Amino acid sequence: MAELIFTGNELLKGNVLNTNSHWMAKTLTSLGIEVKRMVVIEDNIDIIAETLQESLSREPDFIITSGGLGPTYDDVTLEGVAKALRKPLQVNSDALKMVRDRYTLAEKAGLLKINESEKLMVKMASLPAGASPLANPVGAAPGVMVEHANTTIFSLPGVPAEMKAIFSYSIIPWIKPRLGNAFHAERTLLVTGVAESRLAPIILDAMAKVSGTWMKSCVQGSGKSEICMSTTATSEDEANKRVEDAYNMITGKIREIGGNVKEGHDKT
Ligand code: ATP
Ligand code: MG
Repeated sequence: MAELIFTGNELLKGNVLNTNSHWMAKTLTSLGIEVKRMVVIEDNIDIIAETLQESLSREPDFIITSGGLGPTYDDVTLEGVAKALRKPLQVNSDALKMVRDRYTLAEKAGLLKINESEKLMVKMASLPAGASPLANPVGAAPGVMVEHANTTIFSLPGVPAEMKAIFSYSIIPWIKPRLGNAFHAERTLLVTGVAESRLAPIILDAMAKVSGTWMKSCVQGSGKSEICMSTTATSEDEANKRVEDAYNMITGKIREIGGNVKEGHDKT
C-alpha cells in the first residue's frame, strides 16, 4: 500500500498540472501496489513534516514525495522529511559526488561555475541521517530513500523527467523483488446505447461475483460510458482470469439489455 505527497505552490495555484500524480498512480497500480491516498501541499517545512507524520501513522509500505529537492530557497522537502523523522540533515558523500558530477558536466557546457555553486551542491546532498541517495540520470538533485519502521520513504524531484527516471532506474528495481507475487490486470469496455444508471446494477453484480476485482463506469457523454475493471492477484493467470470473467459477465448483461459493447477507450 502506498501514499503519495506532492509538494509545490505552483501546483496549488494551478500554474502547473500535477501530471506526476497521474504517472505515479498508474505506475504503482501496474506494479500491483495499491495507492490509498495522495495529497498536494505547500513547499513548507512544517506542513511537509506534519503531512508525512500523519501518513507514517497509517503505516503504508511506501510513501513517495515529489517536488522540492532542488537548489532553490523554496525546495525544502528534505528538511520536512528530516523534521518528521526527528533526524538531522547530514551531507551524504555519495550524494555530493553525484551532484558534483552533474555540475561538472553543466560547467563544461558553460551553464554554471562550479566554484560559485558549492553551497547549492551541499544543499542538494544534505539528506536526513540514515537516508541513501538515488542516482538522477537526467538532473542534479538525487532522489532519496529512507526507511522508517515498516515504511520506505522515497523523495523524488518535481521535474517530471527526473521523477520518472529515478522511479524507473532506482525505485522499480528496488521494489519489485520485495513485492512478493503481485500481478495486475485491467480491461476497459466502451458502452453505447444504454444510460449509465442501467449499468450500475450490472457492475455491482459483477463485482460481487468476481471477488477482488474493482470496476467503475465513467460517463463519456452522448450516451457513451467506459467501464474500467482491474485487479491485483498473486498469479498472472488468476489476475487475467478475473478480468476475463468480469468482462464476459458484463458484456453479456449489457447486450441482453440492448447496449453495444466493445473493448478499449473512446478515441474520439
Ligand atoms: P529543481 O531541481 O528543478 O528545482 P525540484 O525537485 O525542486 O527540482 P520543483 O522545484 O518542486 O522540483 O519543481 C520543478 C518544476 O517541475 C516545477 O516548476 C514544475 O514545472 C514541475 N513539477 C513539479 N511538480 C510537478 C508535478 N507534480 N507534476 C508535474 N510537474 C511538476
Ligand atoms: Mg525546485
